Amino acid sequence: MTPKRTTLENLTFDNRFTRQLPCDKTTENTRRQVNHACYSRVNPTPVKAPALVAFSREAALLLDLEDTACRSDLFTRVFTGNHLLPGMDPFAMCYGGHQFGNWAGQLGDGRAILLGEVLNRQKDRWMLQLKGAGPTPYSRTADGLAVLRSSIREFLCSEAMFHLGVPTTRALSLTLTGEKVERDMFYDGHPRLESGAVVCRISPSFTRFGNFQILAARQENDLLKNLMDYTIETDFAHLGPLSRTSYERWFRDVCEKTMDMIVHWMRVGFVHGVMNTDNMSILGLTIDYGPYGWLEDYTPGWTPNTTDASGRRYSFKNQPQIALWNLGQLANALLPVVGHPEPLQEALDGAIQYFHRRQESMMAQKLGFKQFEPKTDRTLTAELLNILESAETDYTLFFRELSRLDITQKSKKTPFPAFMEKAFYAPDQITPAHSGRFNTWMAAYGERLARDRISHKKKKQQMDRVNPKYVLRNYLAQTAIDKAEKKDFSGVWELLDVMRRPYDEQPDKESFAAKRPEWARHKPGCSMLSCSS
Ligand code: AMP
Ligand code: MG
Repeated sequence: MTPKRTTLENLTFDNRFTRQLPCDKTTENTRRQVNHACYSRVNPTPVKAPALVAFSREAALLLDLEDTACRSDLFTRVFTGNHLLPGMDPFAMCYGGHQFGNWAGQLGDGRAILLGEVLNRQKDRWMLQLKGAGPTPYSRTADGLAVLRSSIREFLCSEAMFHLGVPTTRALSLTLTGEKVERDMFYDGHPRLESGAVVCRISPSFTRFGNFQILAARQENDLLKNLMDYTIETDFAHLGPLSRTSYERWFRDVCEKTMDMIVHWMRVGFVHGVMNTDNMSILGLTIDYGPYGWLEDYTPGWTPNTTDASGRRYSFKNQPQIALWNLGQLANALLPVVGHPEPLQEALDGAIQYFHRRQESMMAQKLGFKQFEPKTDRTLTAELLNILESAETDYTLFFRELSRLDITQKSKKTPFPAFMEKAFYAPDQITPAHSGRFNTWMAAYGERLARDRISHKKKKQQMDRVNPKYVLRNYLAQTAIDKAEKKDFSGVWELLDVMRRPYDEQPDKESFAAKRPEWARHKPGCSMLSCSS
């Protein structure tokens, strides 16, 4: 018998979070401090004219939903917040966080509303969450809404990251509300009306470091223990039943998952831009796509976030140490329940070692080595990164092109490979001194590769699996946004499609692999982004 087709109406909801954790006693949707609770019940605000812009086929399949279900009018209404399905139990989570290094108190889901938890046919659990569906008790002074430009960025990047193999929350749908939202994009007194939009995100869990922090800050230690136990049992079931050592093993796992995520970011050249502790998923998933960006020329100190331009706290190169700092804040929050700091401190120390090991093995993969050999490879990678930094060199293109180097071909007349040139932004920076240094590196790299005795074909395949050809370059997303703001969504669909296969050659999509054009160097949205969204 073929299983019954899954429709929106027969999705199975099993809302564990709201069932097992305490709810805010107040029921009105007013802005407030929410004590002694992990969440508040709140409904999405219905909007004038929901309209579908795009959905992710792959994300829909996680809920067993096929294309026909996603193209229905009901789908659009549900995922803009105008209609609740049987079994949905909408709520917003209470959390706090450190923003740019300072404790900010209660933040919470100010414009995110969870609809419920779907159990799919495989019994996987997926939480559904609307972002931009109206105010909640946690909206503070803001409106609870989101605009099209930032929603396109979140929708596309979530799915692009998934296809790149980077742990991330997913995006099911992108819809328009038919209403206008006022935003002052660069906070410079020039507000404008933009199209309102909603993204439906899905994730096994939306719990953040900040969910634990707010309870610790309020000394609600019973509730803190409650949430820790719940999280271990629900989101970390692989750790087994709760026992005396659960907290330590759990925190170690959180450290490793977080560091794994960071290593992936470093691999693909992703800069999150707002690594506040409220934007750190307990599952080590990339979450809250705001003023993120992709490294174009390799500049380790680059941050896309204009709000962070002076301190560069969240720049590309700082991401590992910020992750560690954030884990340290989480450890502080867990301490009242864990009881003694030693195991937490040990896990944090372990996280540093763990990160270095993973980062090294990631670099070895990017370079096509069998494994990282510290004796030679530390110097080789450090020198390479210095060279890339010394002349504006596209991070993605460089590594992708590097895989074409065939050391078995002995035509060594131009060791400085011509095919590399398309990675350079400023050819005049490629001085004889620079080429010389590069050639020396290439020679050492060639010798190192030779020692591994892997065929060129196999090495290239391995490298092309970790060095993407296509990433969601800042200017590509902005080009799709510019079109979408004129009601032409073809750019969004095309990017969604190209980013499905980031490691494959897609000959008819070659232009999407090109380095940033000069016009985009200083264009807002391309190199500079703000938190306004
Ligand atoms: P972020 O750093 O962008 O993840 O947001 C920090 C906090 O501000 C979170 O609690 C968000 O829910 C909240 N927030 C951001 N934008 C809005 C908005 N337009 N309306 C309500 N809350 C918001
Ligand atoms: Mg956030």
